[in-house]
Amino acid sequence: MWAAKRERRGVGSKSEMGHVDRKRINDALDKQLERSSPSTSRGLNGKDKDRLSAQSILTSKPPPDQRDPRSTSMEDNKCSDEESETDSEESDVSGSDGDDTSWISWFCNLRGNEYFCEVDDDYIQDDFNLCGLSSQVPYYDYALDLILDVESSHGDIFSEEQNELVESAAEMLYGLIHVRYILTTKGMTAMLEKYKNGECGRCPRVYCCGQPCLPVGQSDIPRQSTVKIYCPKCEDIYTPRSRFQNNIDGAYFGTTFPHLFLMTYGHLRPQKASLSYVPRVFGFKVHKP
Ligand SMILES: [Zn+2]
Repeated sequence: MWAAKRERRGVGSKSEMGHVDRKRINDALDKQLERSSPSTSRGLNGKDKDRLSAQSILTSKPPPDQRDPRSTSMEDNKCSDEESETDSEESDVSGSDGDDTSWISWFCNLRGNEYFCEVDDDYIQDDFNLCGLSSQVPYYDYALDLILDVESSHGDIFSEEQNELVESAAEMLYGLIHVRYILTTKGMTAMLEKYKNGECGRCPRVYCCGQPCLPVGQSDIPRQSTVKIYCPKCEDIYTPRSRFQNNIDGAYFGTTFPHLFLMTYGHLRPQKASLSYVPRVFGFKVHKP
């Protein structure tokens, strides 16, 4: 059994867990990059090592020293204010699920992962849908087993650190499957629910009056930029409010999704923003030179 999985079942609060877990995984990736001693790479063949170092180099997340524990707890407070509704939902779920939670629903319920929908097992089990991903994701087979909750004996021979790398690879693999899935009919239906509930954030622009947004990436290549939200009313993109969401790769949502979504559900496309802010000085419009 995977170490990370054991932990996730033992911990009551999922949202807390997600943050700690991600931080730990990132630290492990950083450590992997620093060390070059052959003893740390036991059990990895040359090919895996190459992939691994490539992934570590491409990692765009901040180094561990920037994560000051005080600032983290302050953000925790700030975010819990913003997301108190989500938090209570999460604690409801974690109170009753016990051991039956699948990796996918655990992952989608982590704080910061609110934009992800749950990808159908059937979709993941169809090799055709995963075409080309095995060359992009390290520990591909193990990561796939983890996502699908397949019991794997290989977990026992891996070190704690390697298990963390597999967990991290599983997140990446899930993201790369997710970006494909949300362009399918089933995926769009799942995202429709989120959109209707405003789960993907609302436009911060005052004259958009809380218009629900859709997640979007600025690139389809992983590790280029983090996820943004697209407002269909002002047709602009914004940075998500929660810092946890600001660590999510934009390539897990892609550049196409919100636009194909609004073409598919044309009746949901809001009227263009008609009001715009007018700067005034002592009540008079500011003349542009
Ligand atoms: Zn807007």
